[in-house]
Amino acid sequence: MAVIAGNWKMHMGPKETAAFFAGFTPPASSHELILFPPTLSLAAAVGSPERSARVQLGVQNIHWEEKGAFTGEVSASMAAEAGADFVLIGHSERRHVFGETDEQVAWKITAARRHGLVPVVCVGETLDERRDDRVAEVILGQLDAALDALTEGEGRFLIAYEPVWAIGTGETATPSDASEAHATLRSRLEERLGVGGAAHIPILYGGSVKPGNAAELLAAADVDGVLVGGASLDPESFSAIASAAD
Ligand code: PEP
Repeated sequence: MAVIAGNWKMHMGPKETAAFFAGFTPPASSHELILFPPTLSLAAAVGSPERSARVQLGVQNIHWEEKGAFTGEVSASMAAEAGADFVLIGHSERRHVFGETDEQVAWKITAARRHGLVPVVCVGETLDERRDDRVAEVILGQLDAALDALTEGEGRFLIAYEPVWAIGTGETATPSDASEAHATLRSRLEERLGVGGAAHIPILYGGSVKPGNAAELLAAADVDGVLVGGASLDPESFSAIASAAD
């Protein structure tokens, strides 16, 4: 069973969210479906009478504190109360546009866990880091920083490998690029958690996944699912990607 997740980023207000669910029929297969609408649209997603119970919901970011003078932020407890079950943590846009550090990623993981949100922790290298042959160093550094927080608590988590150069650019990692990075991540998970512990942790690929390339990426070794940005905004294309997992 694959995990098919969609990150809507800063797209889809409450009305568009309701319209998405009116048009989205999950494929018959039993793949796990998770959508991350903007926080402001979460209530519309939760309350949509047309949303299939198979579509689970998450938020794209949380603050690590419970409450306080953090204008514009939402806490893990607020997200959970509003109906989120998952949270994206350390997405490359958070790291590179908003300057989020590994330390903050770890604090967010701890906050998420405290309120029962399942973290989907994103790691990935920039184009310069890839050109400098530093892919393993960068993604393992990000993974290790997250695992320190993840192994302190209990509960499920997912990893998403999202090469920064492939996000929103139309450039996709080849299935073998994805497999190589995923194998690197999986072997570190096995070192840290044991083979049995690591086996339960899906590693998703993200970066310009579309209906046309989803099947080959999902068939690649060690790819347990996909995290889809732009192509998750359209119900038909998200459904086609979920069907490609078959
Ligand atoms: C993302 O936002 O996580 C992503 C992978 O975006 P896109 O599919 O548009 O590259």
